[in-house]
Amino acid sequence: MGNQRLGSAIIVSGPSGVGKSTVCGKVRENMPDLKFSISCTTRQPRTGEVDGVHYYFITREEFEKRIANDEFIEYARVFDNIYGTLASEVIERVRRGEDVFLDIDVQGALQIRAAAEKNELLKKVCEFVLLAPPSFEILENRLRSRATDSAEQIEMRLAKAKHELSFYRHYDYVVVNDDLDKAVCDVESIIRAAAARTDRLPEDFLQ
Ligand code: 5GP
Repeated sequence: MGNQRLGSAIIVSGPSGVGKSTVCGKVRENMPDLKFSISCTTRQPRTGEVDGVHYYFITREEFEKRIANDEFIEYARVFDNIYGTLASEVIERVRRGEDVFLDIDVQGALQIRAAAEKNELLKKVCEFVLLAPPSFEILENRLRSRATDSAEQIEMRLAKAKHELSFYRHYDYVVVNDDLDKAVCDVESIIRAAAARTDRLPEDFLQ
């Protein structure tokens, strides 16, 4: 490791409807030096999404091959697709001292949390952030205001959100997305504080 400071892996997750993509998008805009972990997914690209920029869009076969090769630090089925974080997107970068930002679902974050128990490097560098709504009532209203979902889908998303939020104790931080600017600022503060942690410093710091 020599005299290289370690970077942090900032893992942000939260239930659907909490405003995660908006918060994560703003943080990335405001902190251009932050590296983004590009996930693999079997889902089709949406308009404007670019392979190798937003995701690595791969087939299910390719995904399964990579699982067998042990290339993922986590992977999870989200809706009808599989999403996964490549070890190569995170491990080498934090070793080089870069801060890496992961926008993944709760199942994935909990897998990394479990993996970190047995992996010294992950244990040192991971910061788990859960984005939460101010209340279930507000989350329900937000989900209902998305005209695209059926009543049944909304109920399902709400039940899933309750389940996901019940894992909050497995996270280091909970950021309540009441006011967007404040939530963005809170996530940025966590990233900055992580960069100043003593356990990211090399053994020979200041010697
Ligand atoms: P979308 O398809 O809208 O881009 O993402 C759907 C969900 O999958 C989001 O909650 C997103 O955070 C999550 N996701 C994206 N990449 C990964 C990943 O690598 N692993 C896991 N577990 N979830 C991911």
